[in-house]
Amino acid sequence: MIPFSSSTTNRKGWQQQLVEGLRSAVELLDYLGLTTFLDSHMEEAAARFPLRVTRYYANLMERGDFDDPLLRQVLPSPRELETADGFTRDPTGDLTARAGPGMLRKYTGRALVIASGGCAINCRYCFRRHFPYQASRVGPGAWKPLLCELTGDDTVSEIILSGGDPLMLSNSRLETLVGELGRIGHLKRLRIHSRLPVVLPDRVDHGLVEILDETRLKCTLVLHVNHPRELTPELGRALEPLAAAGIILLNQSVLLRKVNDAPGIQVDLCEKLFDYNILPYYLHQLDKVEGAAHFLVADARAREIHGIMRQRLPGYLLPRLVREEPGADSKQPL
Ligand SMILES: *Cc1c(COP(=O)(O)O)cnc(C)c1O
Ligand code: SF4
Repeated sequence: MIPFSSSTTNRKGWQQQLVEGLRSAVELLDYLGLTTFLDSHMEEAAARFPLRVTRYYANLMERGDFDDPLLRQVLPSPRELETADGFTRDPTGDLTARAGPGMLRKYTGRALVIASGGCAINCRYCFRRHFPYQASRVGPGAWKPLLCELTGDDTVSEIILSGGDPLMLSNSRLETLVGELGRIGHLKRLRIHSRLPVVLPDRVDHGLVEILDETRLKCTLVLHVNHPRELTPELGRALEPLAAAGIILLNQSVLLRKVNDAPGIQVDLCEKLFDYNILPYYLHQLDKVEGAAHFLVADARAREIHGIMRQRLPGYLLPRLVREEPGADSKQPL
C-alpha cells in the first residue's frame, strides 16, 4: 500500500470548492494558458450541455497542452454540434426504464436510484447529457414513494445510488437516505457510483466515511477514473479511511478516443488503481449519445486494446469490456 502522508493544508470545504468551479471555456482555457484555441462553437456546444469542472481537476491538466486527455473530457468541442448515425439522445433506454420517481429498474435484483441531478464536472461524453434529471431526480425530503416501492419489492437486494452524482448530496441528506434504506430488511448491499472523489477528493470527509461505516448494508464505492493522471496522492489519502472501514472500492471507466484508447494507458491505469486499493470493474464502450461521436473507439480497436490488457495484467486487474444495450438484462460483454 502506498503510504499517503496526511495532508496539512487547510483547504476550503468541498461545497465551497464546487461553487468556485470553472464554468466556461474562456475561463478554463485562460486558466491553462490556451486562449488562442478559443472557438465560438465551443460556446454553442456549452449552451447544450454546460461546461463544469472543479479547480482541483483543472489543476491536474497540463498547462499549454490543448490535447491534454483530461482537458478533452470536459472542454466543449465544436464537433459536438455534428450529428452522427446511430447517436441518439437516450442511447441506454433510461427514459423507458424509469420506474416511478427517481428510480431505474433494468436488471434483476438491483435498483438504481437517481439520487442527485448534478455533477461536479460535466463529462462531454456522458450518456446522461440529455437526461431530464430535474424531472427525474427525487426532490428534497421526497424519498417516501421510492422507499415505499422498495419496501414492497423483496426481489431487490442491492441499491445503486447514481445520478448525476449521488455524492453531490450533503452528508445530512445522504445519512437520512442511507438510514431509511438500511431499515428495509431485504436490502443487503448499497453501491454508490460516483466520480466526485476523483474530481474533488475533499468530498470524502469524515462524515461520509461514518455514514458508510455505520450502515448495516455492505457498501461498495464504484469510482470513475479514466486516466492514470486522475489518480493522485490527494485521492489516495481521501480513500484510505474508506478502505480501512471495509468499503469495497471499484472503478469503471469509459474507453475514449484520444483520452485513453491505448493499451499502455489502460495497463498503467489498472496497475495504478490497485496501488490505490481500487479494483478495475468495467471498461465501457461509449454509449452512443448525441454529441459524443468524436469520442468513439471502434469495436475492433476496443477488443484489440482489451486483448493486450489481458496479456499484460493479472486476471483480477482486468476490467470487463462491456456496453450497455437498451432492453438487455445486463451489461453486454463485447
Ligand atoms: C449498470 C447498471 C446497473 C448495475 O449493473 P452491474 O452489472 O450490476 O454493475 C444497474 N442498473 C442500471 C440501470 C444500470 O445501468
Ligand atoms: S454522470 Fe458521471 S460521466 Fe456523467 S457528467 Fe456526471 S460525472 Fe461525468
